[in-house]
Amino acid sequence: MKQLRSLLLSLVIISLSQTTSHAIAHYFPNISALPPPSQLPNITTDNLWSRFRNLSGCHLGDSVLGLATLKSYLFRFGYITNASAETFTDDFDSDLESAVKFYQLNFNLNVSGVLDDVTLRQIQQPRCGNVDVINGTSSMRKNGSTTTTNRLSAVAHYSFFPNAPRWPEDRRDLNYAFLPANQLTESAKEVFARAFEKWAAVIPVTFTRIETYAAADIRIGFFTTDHGDGEPFDGVLGVLAHAFSPTNGRFHLDGDEYWVDGATAADPTAFDLESVAVHEIGHLLGLGHSSVEEAIMYPSISGGVRKVELAADDVEGVQVLYGSRVETNGSTPTSQQTERNGEEGNRTRGAHLMGMSLILAIGWWITL
Ligand SMILES: [Zn+2]
Ligand SMILES: [Zn+2]
Repeated sequence: MKQLRSLLLSLVIISLSQTTSHAIAHYFPNISALPPPSQLPNITTDNLWSRFRNLSGCHLGDSVLGLATLKSYLFRFGYITNASAETFTDDFDSDLESAVKFYQLNFNLNVSGVLDDVTLRQIQQPRCGNVDVINGTSSMRKNGSTTTTNRLSAVAHYSFFPNAPRWPEDRRDLNYAFLPANQLTESAKEVFARAFEKWAAVIPVTFTRIETYAAADIRIGFFTTDHGDGEPFDGVLGVLAHAFSPTNGRFHLDGDEYWVDGATAADPTAFDLESVAVHEIGHLLGLGHSSVEEAIMYPSISGGVRKVELAADDVEGVQVLYGSRVETNGSTPTSQQTERNGEEGNRTRGAHLMGMSLILAIGWWITL
């Protein structure tokens, strides 16, 4: 009996440890504080998604080892629906071709349905865990163009969660808190404060830090692997973070990543914390992903890239939900900036991916 009790206790402890995998965040206050590149994750060998390189050139009718895994990836981010991940095969069927085309459309790629190298490079990029597509509806593009000629048009591509949830009018002074177990430094907390400020500058919403995590509107935590919300993190690279729609308030970051305040192309596996935080706060406010590559709400970002300024697309989207903070002469506070330290301007299409996905979101509302 005693043995049975201790066995049960062990099981409970194991179970708890699996669902509450808090992490001491790998946070570095500047790029010179990062470990040498040899001690950082390897962009190829440590990237679970790098195996997709082997699928180069695959198209309808092929049967290649690894396609089942790719289907799981596309299923995870909403491009394949009405399927069970357990039954995926390595056959390149018409459903997969449709999903690849949908993905290429959302990421402004040549819509061929063929797994060309550009598409595969994009798929391998670290990204936000929130889905891009819900219920088969494109969330990231306003129009259905299958060409790339208008990818930089001024047309809004911002999106919302299904039914466009937002914080109600009597909850516009929001507070946020950090998971105590993460033991974040003041320096790290200030990074989040700056990220909140980007959004507060353009909408009539304020963000105030408090210490009581459980009572906060927005609860920020670093977690590793399975952390109890059905969206386990995947170790270094891959998914970087995810956040929930209003008014859930959960904002989770992958505690296995190397987070830094700043970015350098020399360390492509360290991620600028502020860039990811600004993106996730967009989700917390109600924004979905955007196909505008310059927008904060674009789903992916590579290490070594710093992108912290809201683009016009982000501002327009969030102001549809909350209105403008400054009602003046019609000028909308917009700014757009993408910084890359190191190789100047060498920003390739596949170079940045940041993504996340919503567990509870069930459909995507497109502004028309
Ligand atoms: Zn989570
Ligand atoms: Zn996202």
